[in-house]
Amino acid sequence: MSGRIPPEFIDELLARTDIVDVIGTRIQIRKAGKDFEARCPFHEERTPSFTVSPSKQFYHCFGCGANGSAIGFLMEYDRLSFREAIDELARRAGLTVPVEGGVAASGPDHAPLHALLARASDAYRELLRVHPAASAAVEYLKGRGLSGEIAARFGLGFAPAVGDPILTRLGVDQAAQQGLLTTGLIVEYEGRRRDRFRGRIIFPIRDRRGRVIGFGGRLLGDGKPKYLNSPETPLFHKGRALYGLFEAQQAQRQPGFMLVVEGYLDVIALAQYGLTNVVATLGTATTPEHLQLLGRIAPEVVFCFDGDRAGRAAAWKALQTALPTVSGHQSIRFLFLPEGEDPDTLIRAEGVEAFRTRLQTAQPLSEFLIDQLSRQVDMASMDGRARLVSLAEPLIQGMPGGIYRDLLNQRLVELAGLSSVARPSPSRPARAGVARPGMPPRPNRPSRIALAIALLLNHPELAERVSEVADDWRRWSNPGVEILVQLLEMISSHPTLSKAALVERWREHHHFSYLQRLSVDPILGDIPLEGIVDEFLGALNRISEDVRKEDRRRPLNQSTTTAWSEDARARLEREAAAARTRRR
Ligand SMILES: [Zn+2]
Repeated sequence: MSGRIPPEFIDELLARTDIVDVIGTRIQIRKAGKDFEARCPFHEERTPSFTVSPSKQFYHCFGCGANGSAIGFLMEYDRLSFREAIDELARRAGLTVPVEGGVAASGPDHAPLHALLARASDAYRELLRVHPAASAAVEYLKGRGLSGEIAARFGLGFAPAVGDPILTRLGVDQAAQQGLLTTGLIVEYEGRRRDRFRGRIIFPIRDRRGRVIGFGGRLLGDGKPKYLNSPETPLFHKGRALYGLFEAQQAQRQPGFMLVVEGYLDVIALAQYGLTNVVATLGTATTPEHLQLLGRIAPEVVFCFDGDRAGRAAAWKALQTALPTVSGHQSIRFLFLPEGEDPDTLIRAEGVEAFRTRLQTAQPLSEFLIDQLSRQVDMASMDGRARLVSLAEPLIQGMPGGIYRDLLNQRLVELAGLSSVARPSPSRPARAGVARPGMPPRPNRPSRIALAIALLLNHPELAERVSEVADDWRRWSNPGVEILVQLLEMISSHPTLSKAALVERWREHHHFSYLQRLSVDPILGDIPLEGIVDEFLGALNRISEDVRKEDRRRPLNQSTTTAWSEDARARLEREAAAARTRRR
């Protein structure tokens, strides 16, 4: 609904914000040299490895790798969305957030609708207690093994099959009825207004702040539809809402992972057994917004699906949604239940310990991806393995550069028997394992282009020296070159931006996490200050030399590339063709 925030405003906001204040009011920090240090709020540690730099307006943890600007800190620590973090900083700085396109920043005032939904939720809860027909609902919930305490925690209610209690209690005048129509609580049918939810158990759906934004209803007895949700309304967007998120956050502030299931009753049944880090999507496939939301809460997301065909298809869809966003910061796994089972039935049948054991067996995203693709090819033959690489290629290309992509590349290379041709993804050398909180990321020599980017981010003044080297490097077709060129342009048009502001400008770019990681690359610590210009120009010079060498080697009109998959596939195809010839 709201428009884009102009990048100049974000620059201004960061220039007026002191990250030391922002972090210092939330955790204990102390001065150490020109920086500040603290025990990292994002991983368990006894000795401080978390530093805040006033000059760069940046924080960085050497233990878990967390880093970013004041905006990033608020997003991580206060679990705010980007927009909310901007609003919070603007409030502190006494600035008004402008929005491109002139749409009001805060949007229309939804307070009256929120109040109406809160009253409706109260009414449904009361009906569950006092309505004569509610005993069927109570019996149903008891039959599912749910306690009164858990029903109260989730605010469960009841809508009788006859009568229109919401309309009669809350729709006192035209304005109120308009509100009920807008929020989908009543519907107009053949000129008559009636309650939407009838003969159902009611599940209020709350936003992250605990406000009711919509309802789900499960029909009592037979009939259709078994589950009914509020329609899309100004408050309720299925693609952005997750059932149980508020309750999960109340129970556990920093869960190690979030489990995503398909139904409200699954969420509640698992909570009854003490698994509180569970949410459900609301009759919709997982969206990028869902993943973003979950990523701010836990480092890992586990999707739970029925092991049947439909379940695997749904999981594949979730994988495709996740691929463009996966990075080292968020790991994603898939749990398949025995066919026909759902978490609710399973946990009641086998108990919580068995369910926890199942959770440990959840398949990492990379394994699931390769597993699904392998089913489509004959892995025993060279042709089949070549095909696997071709099938995986477009998927991998859609991923942001980084650890996940490197690992996947590596795994594919091993599977296809390509170890000798394989080169790591252009972004960064492969690492042996995914960095996890509590374990320091392993330093690794970055590629030349990555080194140049990292140096430039930390020393924007290097931009002035670029003209001292031949600019053949600009012709190298590597995603890093594009980033470097854009970065140079950014710096020349805004020479006073801090590192934090520079990185922040990339937030919506799919290379954001790559850039964020480069901005604190541990390798930089090894370069003496006086050597920085030489390192930077040297890296560009060597790339330029390589490009010129390639020019001499290759025919005209063919650009150089480092995408290993191209080479690998070409070779695989050649070998496969040779094998076919031999067989004939
Ligand atoms: Zn840390």
